[in-house]
Amino acid sequence: MALNARLDHRNPLVFDTHELGRRPGALRRLTRTVDAPKDLGIQGVIGVPEGTPVELELRLESVMEGVLVTGTGRAVAKGECVRCLEPLELELEADFQEMFSYPDADDRGRHHADAGDDAEDDEDRLFLEDSMFDLEPVLRDAVVLALPMQPVCQDDCPGLCSQCGARLADDPDHHHDAVDIRWAALQGLAGTMRDGEKDDKSGAEPGVDEKQEK
Ligand SMILES: [Zn+2]
Ligand SMILES: [Zn+2]
Repeated sequence: MALNARLDHRNPLVFDTHELGRRPGALRRLTRTVDAPKDLGIQGVIGVPEGTPVELELRLESVMEGVLVTGTGRAVAKGECVRCLEPLELELEADFQEMFSYPDADDRGRHHADAGDDAEDDEDRLFLEDSMFDLEPVLRDAVVLALPMQPVCQDDCPGLCSQCGARLADDPDHHHDAVDIRWAALQGLAGTMRDGEKDDKSGAEPGVDEKQEK
């Protein structure tokens, strides 16, 4: 569990709340630009490429049970349009708010009393470790929420031609004479039938021949 992994203050997504102190109401704002960690975004859909800058704006507020972290991450996400498959870029703004509890803020008595009920909640709780917290999981969740599941290059992207795969936005008048192709097939069929009547009158269709003779 993350609680056991010691935080490294050199990790750019680890923040130290030491200067904030534990007096409730104390407030600290900070900004930091970090390199995007690996796989930040919705895998296979859209995300912030690893190593590209993510601007973070944080507001740390000391509260009774820990530090309330509110902030925004800004970055450029890259992906491709789900309709026309063209590469696209998106200015991403991901807001987040998370409570990091003091490890000793946990009420042990209550914890033991109804461990069953609280087990799930405790799994989700994030804790300060040596007055530090790791923003990475919070940022990851916020980025995923802020990104579109179905990114499009433009709201009305017409997508690709279902027949030849051409990008319709590049060629609004693009069309295939689908109707004409069917017509041609019908005309071809009609032609064959006429040919049949002419060249093979004695042939296949006695019913037709009878009609014709009457
Ligand atoms: Zn598109
Ligand atoms: Zn086409």
